[in-house]
Amino acid sequence: MVHAEQVRKQFGKLEVLKGIDLIVEPGQVCCLLGPSGSGKSTFLRCINHLEKVDGGRLTVDGDLVGYRQQGNRLHELREREVAQRRRDIGMVFQRFNLFPHLTALENVVEAPVRVGGVPKADAYEQAQRLLHQVGLGDRAGHYPAQLSGGQQQRVAIARALAMKPKLMLFDEPTSALDPELVGDVLDVMRRLAAEGMTMVVVTHEIGFAREVGDTAVFMDQGVVVEAGDPLQVLGEPEQERTRAFLSKVL
Ligand code: ADP
Ligand code: MG
Repeated sequence: MVHAEQVRKQFGKLEVLKGIDLIVEPGQVCCLLGPSGSGKSTFLRCINHLEKVDGGRLTVDGDLVGYRQQGNRLHELREREVAQRRRDIGMVFQRFNLFPHLTALENVVEAPVRVGGVPKADAYEQAQRLLHQVGLGDRAGHYPAQLSGGQQQRVAIARALAMKPKLMLFDEPTSALDPELVGDVLDVMRRLAAEGMTMVVVTHEIGFAREVGDTAVFMDQGVVVEAGDPLQVLGEPEQERTRAFLSKVL
């Protein structure tokens, strides 16, 4: 589903991704860990067309990110084509970014109706079902300000799922939450994983990564330091840098 080969990205002179190799098979959960500034968010943003890759090769579901292939030739995607591709990728951020003036239900309904062309009645029915799935069936009429951070984050997940993505990206989805609210969000993600969703999750929740991750990738300073079975990478890391990081977050 995601295939990165020597992916590079720089901002001016600052090399942020220095040749990232990473593979996420369909249905797998890949957990991305590493210190602040190591390039995790930038990498997710590249997958989701929010940043342009400067070098290497990055494909999502076989399609080269940013390009359309015609015969042997590559054409840069137009804005409309980028938007089209992005619909297949759901993204959940640390900050929930819900529309404050819309209820939970309206937040979930918005994209399918406005962008997806889904008939309103169908979209509302689906949104109600999704809110139920994330444990918020009884909060549909609440505005974001009336919900806890954990509830808002679950609405954000429901909203991303409403576009029926084939890939979900999570960027530290629980980092901004009070500790007692983290569990409910992780439970929703755990269920999503069990249902077969392909996910790339940037997280410092080592327990989640070990239990739910099919692979764990430890990044530092724009390179993959160590990757593989989460039990190995997070339990018996080979690299000193990985060990040093884990001893800080555990
Ligand atoms: P992480 O998510 O692992 O904390 P980021 O991908 O957010 O790391 O950032 C990696 C590096 O890239 C940091 O040094 C950050 O300051 C820099 N960076 C990120 N986005 C930009 C940008 N738009 N312009 C310039 N520098 C950026
Ligand atoms: Mg980040």
